[in-house]
Amino acid sequence: AMMLSLRSTPFGERKRQRLVVGRDITKLYHLNMIRRDFVANASHELRTPLTVISGFLESLEDAPSTPVTHRRPLTLMRNQTDRMCSIIEDLLTLSRLEMNDRPEEQESVDIPDEIHLIVQEAQALSGGRHAISAAVDEDLLLLGSQPELRSAFSNLVFNAVKHTPAGARIDIRWHNDDTGPRFTVEDDGPGIPPEHLPRLTERFYRVDRARSRESGGTGLGLAIVKHVLNRHEARLSISSELGRGAIFSCTFLEHRALVRREIDISATG
Ligand code: ADP
Repeated sequence: AMMLSLRSTPFGERKRQRLVVGRDITKLYHLNMIRRDFVANASHELRTPLTVISGFLESLEDAPSTPVTHRRPLTLMRNQTDRMCSIIEDLLTLSRLEMNDRPEEQESVDIPDEIHLIVQEAQALSGGRHAISAAVDEDLLLLGSQPELRSAFSNLVFNAVKHTPAGARIDIRWHNDDTGPRFTVEDDGPGIPPEHLPRLTERFYRVDRARSRESGGTGLGLAIVKHVLNRHEARLSISSELGRGAIFSCTFLEHRALVRREIDISATG
């Protein structure tokens, strides 16, 4: 079957007339499928050898017979191997997200609960060097996939910790806006130059390669966030000014909102 991408634009003097342009994207679709399967298979094949290498490096590091001069190189090697493992895990997550358009499990997700856990983890990651606060509507739950939403929201919060200096403020909000449920992470860190904003959710795209690598990221976090949100019919908006922090917002459609009280009543009655 042929796949068509259709675009319709107003045409001519009268607004009623439209020009419809069709493009055969069958080839593009197949190429994309080949790329997707290749990345998934390559990541899967690399995972086991890397895990084995990391394990042996760790036992060498700890062995009493290891010369002292070897310990530091061994630690460095294991850190790099662990970094590769994280990248592979994120690539596998992305491949899984690309396999189908919708989350397999649709459940009522206790977002307030997830946020409280994420804040605890963020505080551990920050080592108490950031002022993290959360304003959460405790009654607002969301219809979706729990593991996917957790990974999207935690990526945004951990990014705020990783990409801002000590002393930065991080404000997390979860509430029902006029447009629908919204999750927001705002920080007062260095921000992002505007020319980078449109490309930020691309795989491995980073504003400052060296610094981001140092922060321990894989460069895949925002790509994962975008995929998860697409699958939940949600929208990611990023606004930032250089030197004035960044705001990442996820806006969901109204029909995904669930209210805790209603659920409690139906559960008991
Ligand atoms: P990484 O693993 O590098 O964090 P991401 O895909 O999560 O990869 O983010 C892409 C890039 O966006 C980061 O490398 C960083 O340059 C930038 N970025 C993300 N969040 C923030 C933030 N809160 N403040 C400043 N820059 C950010």
